[in-house]
Amino acid sequence: MQGMNIFDQALMRLDDAAKYLDLDADVLEKLKYPRETTKVRLMIRMDDGSRKSFMAWRCRYDDTRGPTKGGIRFHPEATAEEVETLAFWMTFKCAVMDLPYGGGKGAVRVDPRTLSKTELERLSRAYIQAFAKVIGPNRDIPAPDVYTNSMVMGWMADEYASIQGEPAPAVITGKPMALGGSLGRDDATARGGYYLVRHLTRRLGLPTQARVAVQGFGNAGQHIARLLAEDGHRIVAISDSRGAVHCPDGIDPRSAIRAKREGSVTALAGSAGISALASEDLVAVDCDLLVPAALEDMIHEGNASRIKASAVLELANGPLTPEADAILERRGITVLPDILANAGGVTVSYFEWVQNRQGYYWPIDDVHARLQTAMEREGDAIWRLARERGLTLRRAAYVHALARLASAIEAHGTQQ
Ligand code: GLU
Repeated sequence: MQGMNIFDQALMRLDDAAKYLDLDADVLEKLKYPRETTKVRLMIRMDDGSRKSFMAWRCRYDDTRGPTKGGIRFHPEATAEEVETLAFWMTFKCAVMDLPYGGGKGAVRVDPRTLSKTELERLSRAYIQAFAKVIGPNRDIPAPDVYTNSMVMGWMADEYASIQGEPAPAVITGKPMALGGSLGRDDATARGGYYLVRHLTRRLGLPTQARVAVQGFGNAGQHIARLLAEDGHRIVAISDSRGAVHCPDGIDPRSAIRAKREGSVTALAGSAGISALASEDLVAVDCDLLVPAALEDMIHEGNASRIKASAVLELANGPLTPEADAILERRGITVLPDILANAGGVTVSYFEWVQNRQGYYWPIDDVHARLQTAMEREGDAIWRLARERGLTLRRAAYVHALARLASAIEAHGTQQ
């Protein structure tokens, strides 16, 4: 497996799941390749008058179950292969949750922290100008991802509306409330994971006051720390891209969020019994629940054996390599897999799209109640499948999703 690229690693999980189902060969042939990936070089005017170009992609991986759905990330190391892998995961994630969507993803190769706000707006608008024909409320529906947020989605929705000559809010989700966003979309990724952990606490053997380590402190990491702390759990370690902090007595997520807003959680070191920690040691912290909420492949062959937690909640996409999976399985550590654990984000995106199409907006309690029901329903189904067939939760989640994808592929017949 050494040297295998991230897309091939993702396909291993498909091949693995296929062994547990009696599938037509057509199904795997369809799911093994992205349906279409569009690549465009975006040119924008910088504030100093110069012009700069950025590589951008949008992948529509599979649309058998509905329009393709998935976020757009702005990241300096984005690649076509990463976008296709993330779109593959979205295909399975939407199937896990039984959302009427296929999977997609987009990216711009840029470090948004080096752009001014006006440059960021021009880049976001340029993305939509380039991909206006690829996306659409019934075709492909973007959303936020790593280093993009509701402000970026707002500019994008606005640009799409001016190209179309009329507002089309359902083309993009994760929008600001003023442009047709949904209540509860902001913390939905973390909240979905939180509902899942809460529902499975006993089955996972977690204490009611668990010690939690959070790797990555963006949207997902900040909200999960807050939600778990509000429930009486203790956040014992947090990392972000600049470093990590550790405190066995617990870190107040509010002060961590404040520190992060001003730069980094590392500013907390030295106060309230909090000490600095090397980023690579976060996974080895003594805790009950480890929450990877950063990027792909953070937990691998080289550090998986250092994990002390008894359960892992994958809020990031693809944070564990297949080698890490095998190590954790051998060690009896339960992994709540990304395609279920972080599906709260796309689930509330679906609610936003439904509300946009109805022009009728739900109160927050409705959003929360529907999200909770969906997470518990699919979580129970996957748990049951895992128990009945002796599978890890990841394998069970893939089998669960693949069965849905297979029946959709078969239902479409041979013309698709
Ligand atoms: N970027 C999020 C994910 O990876 C959300 C996607 C969406 O809402 O469409 O699941």
